[in-house]
Amino acid sequence: MQKISVLLFLAWVGFLFYAGIALFTSGFLLTRLELTNHSSCQEPPGPGSLPWGSQGKPGACWMPSRFSRLVLVLIDALRFDFAQPQHSHGPGEPPVSLPFLGKLDYLQRILEIQPHHARLYQSKADPPTTTMQRLKALTTGSLPTFIDAGSNFASYAIVEDNLIKQLASAGRRVVFMGDDTWKDLFPGVFSQAFFFPSFNVRDLHTVDNGILEHLYPTMDSSEWDMLIAHFLGVDHCGHKHGPHHPEMAKKLSQMDQVIQGLVDRLENDTLLVVIGDHGMTMTGDHGGDSELEISAALFLYSPTALFPSALPQEPEIVPQINLVPTLALLLGLPIPFGNIGEVMVELFSVVEDPQPHSSALAQASALHLNAQQVSRFLHTYSAAAQDLQIKELHRLQNLFSKASADYQRLLQSPQGAEAALQTVITELQQFLRGVRAMCIESWARFSLSFLLLHLLAAGISITTPGPFTVPWQAVSAWALMATQTFYSTGHQPVFPAIHWHAAFVGFPEGHGSSTWLPALLVGANTFASHLLFAVGCPLLLLWPFLCESQGPRKKWHPLGNETESRVKPEEEEEPLMEMRLRDAPHHFNAALLQLGLKYFFVLGIQILACALAASILRRHLMVWKVFAPKFIFEAVGFIVSSVGLFLGIALVMRVDGAVSSWFRQLVLAQQR
Ligand SMILES: [Zn+2]
Repeated sequence: MQKISVLLFLAWVGFLFYAGIALFTSGFLLTRLELTNHSSCQEPPGPGSLPWGSQGKPGACWMPSRFSRLVLVLIDALRFDFAQPQHSHGPGEPPVSLPFLGKLDYLQRILEIQPHHARLYQSKADPPTTTMQRLKALTTGSLPTFIDAGSNFASYAIVEDNLIKQLASAGRRVVFMGDDTWKDLFPGVFSQAFFFPSFNVRDLHTVDNGILEHLYPTMDSSEWDMLIAHFLGVDHCGHKHGPHHPEMAKKLSQMDQVIQGLVDRLENDTLLVVIGDHGMTMTGDHGGDSELEISAALFLYSPTALFPSALPQEPEIVPQINLVPTLALLLGLPIPFGNIGEVMVELFSVVEDPQPHSSALAQASALHLNAQQVSRFLHTYSAAAQDLQIKELHRLQNLFSKASADYQRLLQSPQGAEAALQTVITELQQFLRGVRAMCIESWARFSLSFLLLHLLAAGISITTPGPFTVPWQAVSAWALMATQTFYSTGHQPVFPAIHWHAAFVGFPEGHGSSTWLPALLVGANTFASHLLFAVGCPLLLLWPFLCESQGPRKKWHPLGNETESRVKPEEEEEPLMEMRLRDAPHHFNAALLQLGLKYFFVLGIQILACALAASILRRHLMVWKVFAPKFIFEAVGFIVSSVGLFLGIALVMRVDGAVSSWFRQLVLAQQR
């Protein structure tokens, strides 16, 4: 077998594996570029005068604030139907009785009694419906990511512009209590925080009781501008018992009491938002994209009238991220830079003392600011990354230009007809919805197209008889040793555990502006075990001889003859072991290929298992913390191993070639 064809064949198998990994990655991991730009009050999102007398009002931002304080109650996994009103199916028939239905009594009552103060929406979350991804979306107004190019892998902190940062930089006090996931996402932002561990999903009460201990005292203390309480009991009850369990009824009733307690204490300048970050399946899990998982409840309440119209028949359906621009403008903050949500226009109506058209004009103003901000984001994003569709981008920018021109014209002569205002509102909404649809199309394909190529490539394994056949257990043990060395040298397959200090080995002063050298050093530190074992893999060709020479030697020397046995074997050993590699030169290359393929196969099984684990457990609480990072480490490890294997085999072939020509010269010399 030719050397070059062996190497080419190995490269081809490696390529098949890479293609399989790439296919899986593109379907499973969500990618987009994270921009670190921030919006600011001083810098309006576009040209044109700011609406509604923002100028001249001290402290006013893009829009004057409607509320000065906000209470955000996040009830984890509060599915929409948990809060839905209970309709009986026919006249006289009692409503269906399930543990999770109709337990939010107080919430229902307040919707009926105060229809101009309260609203229930069905909010739709973007998959994956895991808590951390939802928290990112609920504060940044953007779509989920997993690999964030340009983000800081050493921590989970959110680098994009978000509501919490905007509040903090405006000098408002944000007090947090509940799920400690927020600690990782917003380090050092809260003026006061009570974190409780979220890891134990079998514990329904620790977090909730912890919050309840602090909630009302904090609320009464007035030492806050935004109060966030993240309850976990409902979610944990889902994971432990599922929604169809009496415990769920108890948990929901408890949450209903919390809402009542808060409404009783609200002051006129405060808005109450109760939201579920996602729903749950029939069995209480979440993470995927099924209807039950993505539909969550969203409840708004204001002690002053907020909604001009009566309660709609069916709650309106809104994308979850629409809450972000809405809250930003209501609180008098700039909308976070990367937001692609749309303001909920109903909340920007003029309820008290309305002039003709004043509601429509206020709504158009809010939408126009929102559209300017989204247009600015698109402009910046498309200059930095190329993953949005050019044609659609142009269409949307044209749509925005037209809507914006129409809006400016209306501002010049606001006496224009109601119809013209409605047209502008519709155009702006079309633009915002188009942008969101385009971004979902480009960034958030949560599909699992995969694995076929893996199996194909893994199935290729040729066997040729010969003296060099390395047994499977030896190859598997070798691969396991590589993994074992990875862990025993203090590495773990999660991003925070990367040994960053390795970047400074030999460079205690740092590297100046160079980034590839520290990256190389950290990479070499992390994947040293994969590389060393892959390069050393051809050593396994000695395995068969190692096994056979052990056996006979012991038989030849009976017990008691130890001194002799220590000295003599070398003399008795027929040819030296390394020399036996020359036993069958014509088999050698084929044997190398076979060994390489076997090692590929074992590595392939490992990465296949990781991909399967990540996709089967995609609803697991820890998928983005544990299984997806594990897959990434395994994939990079595979690539490093395959390159190492290729190099190792090429090196052995080079040595074999040199030894062969030396042998030939020896034989020629003897013949002479
Ligand atoms: Zn959650």
